[in-house]
Amino acid sequence: MINSDQCLAKWGTPKNTVAWQSRILSNWYADRNLTNTQLSEYRESCFPSKIYMNNLMHGPFTAAVINLIEDDNLHLLRTWDGCFNIRKIAGSNKWSTHSYGISFDIDAAWNKQGKPGDLSYKIVDNIKCGGFDWGGNFGGSSIDPMHFTLKEEFIGVEPTIGELEDSPEDIKDLIDRLINALEELKHTPQSLENIDQHMDYHS
Ligand SMILES: [Zn+2]
Repeated sequence: MINSDQCLAKWGTPKNTVAWQSRILSNWYADRNLTNTQLSEYRESCFPSKIYMNNLMHGPFTAAVINLIEDDNLHLLRTWDGCFNIRKIAGSNKWSTHSYGISFDIDAAWNKQGKPGDLSYKIVDNIKCGGFDWGGNFGGSSIDPMHFTLKEEFIGVEPTIGELEDSPEDIKDLIDRLINALEELKHTPQSLENIDQHMDYHS
């Protein structure tokens, strides 16, 4: 699993700025990564059609989603609970790996930190085989079954983000994010505030 210290060494302090984020993050689009047959199953699921994530996560995430679809497990998931979110690990001064867009959460309401939760091992296996480690394997009270983080072996890999470069959607996304960042700056001086409150309580 890629940890907080490795992220800090590779990408520096997370910043809520377009300059920092556009270096390491971009949208993963379901329709650019799945076949039409896979896509029709995907659209029935709780996963969103685009997900903002670290460039390194695009390939492994696609692999995990395809595993879930092929084993007919994707539709069993109830909620998508986010990927990129700049914040500290609960009870720690270290940046959460969510701050770098290399972690995501699913079925959070049933799989809170500190308890084993109810995720099926078939689902966990599908995601792990895509290239992730599972928070359900964290020891003691750190156990965090909603949470998956990219495996350590991917930190040195060149990102594969398909045909993302300069497409109109990406430029539009970049402009949207810039506008949002400016709006946020106007309204909240502390722009690193949490967005998802439930995420305070875990890895
Ligand atoms: Zn998480």
